[in-house]
Amino acid sequence: MSDKPEEKYEQSELYRIRHSASHVMAQAVLECFPEAKLGIGPAIEAGFYYDFQLPRSLTPEDLQDIEKRMRRIVAGRHAFERSSVSAAEARRTFKDQPFKLELIDGLEKGGTDEDGNPLEAAGEITLYKSDTFTDLCRGPHVEHTGKINPSALKLMSIAGAYWRGDEHKPMLQRIYGTAWRTPQELKDHLAMLEEAKKRDHRKLGKELEIFIFDEEVGPGLPLWMPNGGIMIEELERLAKETEEKAGYDRVRTPNISKEDLFLRSGHLPYYAESMYPPMELEGVKYYVKPMNCPMHHKIFGARPRSYRELPVRLAEYGTCYRYEKSGELFGLMRVRSMQMNDAHIYTSEELFEQEFMGVAALYSKYFELFGIQKYVMRLSLHGKAGLGKKYVNNEPLWIKTEEMVRHAMKNGGIPFVEAADEAAFYGPKIDVQIWSAIGREFSLATNQVDFAQPARFDLKFTDKNGGEETPLCIHRAPLSTHERMIGFLLEHYAGAFPVWLCPEQARIVPITDGHAEYARTLEKRLRAEGIRASADTSAERMNAKIRHAQLMKIPYMLVVGDQEVQAGTVSLRCRDGSRKDGMSTQEFIAQAKENISKRAAGL
Ligand SMILES: [Zn+2]
Ligand SMILES: [Zn+2]
Repeated sequence: MSDKPEEKYEQSELYRIRHSASHVMAQAVLECFPEAKLGIGPAIEAGFYYDFQLPRSLTPEDLQDIEKRMRRIVAGRHAFERSSVSAAEARRTFKDQPFKLELIDGLEKGGTDEDGNPLEAAGEITLYKSDTFTDLCRGPHVEHTGKINPSALKLMSIAGAYWRGDEHKPMLQRIYGTAWRTPQELKDHLAMLEEAKKRDHRKLGKELEIFIFDEEVGPGLPLWMPNGGIMIEELERLAKETEEKAGYDRVRTPNISKEDLFLRSGHLPYYAESMYPPMELEGVKYYVKPMNCPMHHKIFGARPRSYRELPVRLAEYGTCYRYEKSGELFGLMRVRSMQMNDAHIYTSEELFEQEFMGVAALYSKYFELFGIQKYVMRLSLHGKAGLGKKYVNNEPLWIKTEEMVRHAMKNGGIPFVEAADEAAFYGPKIDVQIWSAIGREFSLATNQVDFAQPARFDLKFTDKNGGEETPLCIHRAPLSTHERMIGFLLEHYAGAFPVWLCPEQARIVPITDGHAEYARTLEKRLRAEGIRASADTSAERMNAKIRHAQLMKIPYMLVVGDQEVQAGTVSLRCRDGSRKDGMSTQEFIAQAKENISKRAAGL
């Protein structure tokens, strides 16, 4: 079972410590560069940053100096003092700070807050002063700088960042830092980052020959190598078996469709920025699909439906294309083509809770299978001000659907937190955050409740009384996309996958050339039994072959020499270091097959 949902990060002590540390850092930078122009300095996941325009590029020595100054400022135990000011006063305070002046304009007009994020109404303008430094800020902070532990503070890196993320605006220098409550927490965090570097999915993906990117193919478009192809097949097999038992029907749909479909679905009006531009054929515009939903809706609507056949569950490992900005692409985690563990469930309100819990059960099953111990579901709700703009304009339906989801989650004992104003345009959304084995957070899958698209597609079913009703649609993808899932699994397992998921499950290593033929016979026999095996009959020495198999994180290594050839046995060396000599081939096959068929976690 997962941990209880934690308090909101924005309200936590760590958030206050980190945000306060960003003030202290800005003060230290101003000491070094009195002419510095200040951007913004928010707390972020696991740390904080501040953006500066400086007369020269920062060096690692600068970071050391700034960090030293921060420790001195922290020791002064300076209180954070709040004052509420008029826009004119704020402009006087920041008269030499053009970026702050721009933020004050936003605050005054009510368009954006002091971090440049959208704001619904004009905000109060508040300043916080500590020691010699004053910032345009809403807080929250710690009481005084002494609450920042100087031994749990570290500046991490320098990066370039455009002002307000806009490439037409000045490039600023961003300093990233991290701050924790105790030195031990900092140490653990740094150790985790070190481990994450070793487990970086881009590095492992290359070493284990799982995927590549190619200049000529294009950014964000992964090519799956044979090893990746096998993992994809295994994940699909898992999904298909699970979904078949759960009553899903499989469908197939094309990768492109006419513009009309996406106009009707609402993707073109609400989602066009994330779509590839159209191609024109015979005077008609076609788009590659960013989502599979509209086509599944067409399949549901292809004939009259009765309440008796609900719920209808349509599943497809659909390939979708989304236009992500070049700067936002990241390995397999942010790509432009993706194969999604997609399905749409069409249900009546009456059956909604049961279906929703069925989907939740799928998630739990997968979490258990992959040893994902910590997860949180975040229920994203609509925001009143966004109705008719980013959300379908039907408040009663929003409230009703949100209540249905909340009720189902509570009844099912699913840990969740709520987030206002983050829903999808067509309904409330449940984002699933999971943590990898080394404690890094991933946003893997979403589960969405849609009360708008079925109506846009005029989907209907005949209810018990012979009347017509519009179904609700649940969009779900518990195994996410292959891209994200395999990216996550690479880090989670550090590339040492459970046997069922391993591209190569057994490597046969003959001690000399004289044993090569036995090795090849063994290879054939294992393959005939459904075990992915290969004999390494290359000219390399045995030790090199063993090392190579270890680098590829192959779970079973079978070493064969004179003894094994004579007795018809194998010497088994497992990836975890355990060994068994003189094992009968039959025994090994039985053991491996059982492990694979159970999708066991260990060897
Ligand atoms: Zn602040
Ligand atoms: Zn969908």
